[in-house]
Amino acid sequence: MDAADLTALLSSLVEKGLRADRDDPVTREEALAVLATSDDDLLDVLAAAGRVRRRWFDNRVKLNYLVNLKSGLCPEDCFYCSQRLGSEAGVLKYTWLSPGQAAEAASAGVAGGARRVCLVASGRGPTDRDVDRVCRTVGAIREQNPQVEVCACLGFLGDGQAERLREAGVDAYNHNLNTSEATYGDICTTHEYADRVDTVQRAQFAGLSPCSGLIAGMGESDEDLVDVVLALRDLDPDSVPVNLLVPFDGTPLAGTWELTPQRALRILAMVRFVCPDAEVRLAAGREVHLRTLQPLALHVVNSLFLGDYLTSEGQAGRADREMIADAGFVVEGADAPGEAARPDLVAARRRGAGTDVPPNA
Ligand code: SF4
Repeated sequence: MDAADLTALLSSLVEKGLRADRDDPVTREEALAVLATSDDDLLDVLAAAGRVRRRWFDNRVKLNYLVNLKSGLCPEDCFYCSQRLGSEAGVLKYTWLSPGQAAEAASAGVAGGARRVCLVASGRGPTDRDVDRVCRTVGAIREQNPQVEVCACLGFLGDGQAERLREAGVDAYNHNLNTSEATYGDICTTHEYADRVDTVQRAQFAGLSPCSGLIAGMGESDEDLVDVVLALRDLDPDSVPVNLLVPFDGTPLAGTWELTPQRALRILAMVRFVCPDAEVRLAAGREVHLRTLQPLALHVVNSLFLGDYLTSEGQAGRADREMIADAGFVVEGADAPGEAARPDLVAARRRGAGTDVPPNA
């Protein structure tokens, strides 16, 4: 793409993003063109996405905290998932946390700055007894943290279950589409794409705030990525988590390393342009794939998971908060600015030239 075409593309994307007019959305071709930009053009793309992000979310970053209520031993076979049937990924396996245990875990996240707690359970979907248990868990969390938002992610919802969760005080429901309809069969054989759409809609009809996103880096094409984001836009979720595949050994996608930091940033920018006023949440895999470029992503996304993920460890919560402050953003709901004084980072050299200690090289 030459400079004039890039300028025209980005100005159209910014103009549409600032308006977020559902009658004049970003086109499939424009979204594909974002993914086709070169690494040399990355800062221009991020600056354009950053204008859209600031129009809707200013410099705020929402923190979310995951509590894995039930880990591993899932009967489904999602190829990307370390909790799948037959997984040899060596992740934690345990059955349901008690409401008290879950509330304690949630409190740690709230103390770290999280505005939302995401209660996740592995499995195809909850039984009615499971829903009862989650309702009690929500009560225990609210006793300790009345203001925190609660999102549930329990798999496919049956009749009446979304309504019961809503009545118990659940605010949102997460269920990701993950990839395009055309390639869904390449990442799972035990359920279908349409099942996922159905659950997002059930949650939405019950008055739960819909949260639905994707996983990038599973072998999909640019067209697949754009198609799943367009499908998400059609569902109109309030939040769109973007996961970057963590290819655990012991899963079918082990060894699938497709994302450079630059590619991951382009994907995030594309999601921002297509869903300009949605909460775009950078999810699992950010430390693994963005590495030292994580702060650049804050100019595009407006939401992160704090600390650890369901089955993999994230960077320390303190490092997340420092990164946000250093990049000039503020944690939603927090009034303390970042610390300018960091004497803990100043250390006199005691190695290398002039010493007997090996150099830091
Ligand atoms: S993504 Fe969910 S349904 Fe699929 S294997 Fe993992 S825990 Fe089970």
